[in-house]
Amino acid sequence: MALEMGRVGIERVEGWGMSVGSVARVIRPENLDQLRAVLAEARKAGVTLAPRGTGCSYGDASTTEQGWCLDLTHMNRVLSFDESTGDADLEGGATIRQLWRRSLPSGYWPKVVSGTMFPTVGGAAGMNIHGKNNFKVGTFGDNLLEIDLLLANGDLLTCSREQNAELFHGAIGGFGMLGIITRVKTRTQRVYSGDVRVRGISCHDLGEMMEAMQELVDVADYLVGWIDTFGAGSAAGRGLLHDARYLAEGEDSDPGKTLCLEHQDLADSVMGVPKAEIWRVLRLFNHDLGMRLINGVKQVAGRMESMRGWHRQSHGGFNFLLDYVPDWKYAYARQAGEGLIQYQAFLPSETALDGFLALLAEGQASGHVPYLGVLKRHRPDPFLMTHALDGWSLAMDLKVTAKNRAHLWQTCARFSQICLNAGGRFYFAKDQVISPSVARASFGARRIAAFRELKAQADPQGLFSTDLWRRVFEQDPDQRSHGPWPGQA
Ligand SMILES: Cc1cc2nc3c(=O)[nH]c(=O)nc-3n(C[C@H](O)[C@H](O)[C@H](O)COP(=O)(O)OP(=O)(O)OC[C@H]3O[C@@H](n4cnc5c(N)ncnc54)[C@H](O)[C@@H]3O)c2cc1C
Repeated sequence: MALEMGRVGIERVEGWGMSVGSVARVIRPENLDQLRAVLAEARKAGVTLAPRGTGCSYGDASTTEQGWCLDLTHMNRVLSFDESTGDADLEGGATIRQLWRRSLPSGYWPKVVSGTMFPTVGGAAGMNIHGKNNFKVGTFGDNLLEIDLLLANGDLLTCSREQNAELFHGAIGGFGMLGIITRVKTRTQRVYSGDVRVRGISCHDLGEMMEAMQELVDVADYLVGWIDTFGAGSAAGRGLLHDARYLAEGEDSDPGKTLCLEHQDLADSVMGVPKAEIWRVLRLFNHDLGMRLINGVKQVAGRMESMRGWHRQSHGGFNFLLDYVPDWKYAYARQAGEGLIQYQAFLPSETALDGFLALLAEGQASGHVPYLGVLKRHRPDPFLMTHALDGWSLAMDLKVTAKNRAHLWQTCARFSQICLNAGGRFYFAKDQVISPSVARASFGARRIAAFRELKAQADPQGLFSTDLWRRVFEQDPDQRSHGPWPGQA
């Protein structure tokens, strides 16, 4: 049986931030027949399946304390790429890295990429990820032409805006709960260079950064703000805004060279330290004092970058900055269960500035200052469980230790209250803390009921389930509004 289902093993399966995980039976089918066999076997055994890509979600979106983990990374072929349109057809387990490495030599770059190139396209669709250009091109789902969705009963449906449209809009951003995305067809962006033009704009506070970003939304291709999370008072939310643009046709004197894959490769060392070792150096600074220092140095470096004006950076270098330092997350953990969580709050334009300032102040007051803060501009999209809205997001990386965990969760509960008061949304790719009542207050009871209804139709036996699903959507109704916050006595 093991052979028919693909490779099977018992492994520790963690969220990317390492602060959640458990040992699970992991099954890796290699083709559709094996995948169907896994579904049939799980139905027969009466166990649930947790769909998983490369596990780049920070929290519990693809971990499972019950049932089996269904790792889809071995169904990873690039099926076709149309050089005339830039349309790409890929199996769900192919990665964003595979996509750009196939498309770029022909002059195309994926429309939407995350801050790391390692997610699978199935996982990217499952979370409906956004890039630094969300305000301009929408989410990953907005740029999909169609997907193939394998339902719990083994039926394979092609879903698009025209065909099985309800499932299309539910499964994209549906965190794997409606079925397995076995194929995605996506459009890519025509580019005339392997570089983008970039400039940094140093900002004294959050209001200044948001104003500067807003003024650029009609002309910039990418906008992202780094925030010094230690800035307080009149310096709260100070940081560096990056404005990046595609090069027009003819602007790059040697596109043949910049479109080469080697041009995109990230440097092997930073200031003489081999890339693979940098996380060890970062670990020395992974405490409040060290991070205050790093943020301060970055703020000064940002002012200098601001004076430099426009310069060029490869697409890979600009978009995947975090991949420059392999394994940087290990700087956060000294023992099992430690690591980081990311709290990304999405707030409407009207409340964003005050809401984010309140979040930064709450982090500082509670002793949980985020070690990284990132600001983005967003726009709404038509997907049922979407996180995106006409507004902004602030993503905050928070250190988790065995000692601070319970207190951090309490602080996050206060973050959530601030977000709810501001009419905000949450993003399950980053979440590990929100409760069912917070989800209901944020997404609305009607939206959640519609999603449950769709799941009841697509997966009536509840075959697909993850720790995230059980934490946020399956708790006892009495627990939802009154239950203790995880970690609270
Ligand atoms: C360093 C870093 C930077 C990041 N930057 C960004 C960013 O800029 N923007 C952003 O939006 N996100 C960002 N992310 C989050 C990441 O893009 C998402 O979590 C993405 O969903 C991860 O894809 P994955 O293949 O690792 O899937 P997993 O994390 O393993 O799974 C994601 C979800 O999709 C489901 N799933 C996985 N594969 C399938 C499938 N084939 N069919 C159906 N469901 C499936 C899973 O059950 C789970 O609910 C970042 C993550 C990291 C680690």
